[in-house]
Amino acid sequence: SRAAVPSAAETAEAIRSGDRRALARAITMIESSRPDHRERAEALLAELLPHTGRSVRIGISGVPGVGKSTFIETFGLHVIGQGHRIAVLAVDPSSQRTGGSILGDKTRMEELTRNPSAFIRPSPSGGTLGGVARRTREAMLACEAAGYDVVVVETVGVGQSETTVADMVDLFMLLLLPGGGDELQGIKKGIVELADLIVVNKADGALVDAARHAVAEYRHALALLRSPSKDWKVPVLTCSAATGTGVPEIWETVGRYRGTLSGSGALDARRAEQARAWMWSEIAETLTDAFRRHPAVRAELPRAEQAVTRAETTPTAAARALLERFLGPRED
Ligand code: GDP
Repeated sequence: SRAAVPSAAETAEAIRSGDRRALARAITMIESSRPDHRERAEALLAELLPHTGRSVRIGISGVPGVGKSTFIETFGLHVIGQGHRIAVLAVDPSSQRTGGSILGDKTRMEELTRNPSAFIRPSPSGGTLGGVARRTREAMLACEAAGYDVVVVETVGVGQSETTVADMVDLFMLLLLPGGGDELQGIKKGIVELADLIVVNKADGALVDAARHAVAEYRHALALLRSPSKDWKVPVLTCSAATGTGVPEIWETVGRYRGTLSGSGALDARRAEQARAWMWSEIAETLTDAFRRHPAVRAELPRAEQAVTRAETTPTAAARALLERFLGPRED
């Protein structure tokens, strides 16, 4: 006989009471694209919503090798030492291509993984960045309801995923390497502009001087960029994820950032704007999905794409013809 499926209220209760397996199962359901799972995930999130929003949400990005996993391990253990509980989620766009998660493959954050005050979840694989982002946002809400008061969302520094992550966190932290100089290590200016906090990692051993130079250069470069928040001047700090030097100062800076932005109302405003943007991206994703599935659209799509690529019709005209199949003829 089949075990009865627990109700959304029962699952929510289990998650809130600290049942890690219930949380892990809920995130698996959140990540599933099966319509019945999606329905249950939505019912569950509705139950959990009143118990979310009380964490500090931190995005962490940087090129592969900068030390993200080493940093999150050291930072996480420090934060736990201060009496907090930390959840770590990953947005890994490369997992779309490989079908598996690079961030999940490595043996990472071993000590943090074993710590009962930490919950670590590798990136869901498959789907669009938009889909991965939705699932990460929802997983973040589930972790908050489970009492994790620090949530870290990690992403590899390869472009579009940074914007996506910056759009779901309170503070976006960019990890950089010593050296590299005024070209900002090939990191796009647009990504540096997203940062609320810049940290030069590996400031240890022979790299201490190089790290100090890098800080001066980044401070100089930042003076020419606008800060994401008008009441916050973006700090540039150094740390060694390997030795732990500088990590307590980073946590203090996160606290100072939260205090400043909460006080001015900017934090609430940022979250409100993020929720609004999330709704619109859901609408866009769902509409595009329905459009692509629509039988009359599907039947015509290959021909339309071909006509556009061969310049036999304009993209505007082709789009309008396809949209008419989807929406019916326009009245105006
Ligand atoms: P990720 O790809 O950004 O997650 O980087 P990892 O955390 O895997 O680190 C890449 C390499 O840099 C590893 O060999 C780490 O041991 C090393 N590393 C990370 N942090 C530091 C640090 O603070 N100092 C030094 N010297 N090495 C570090």
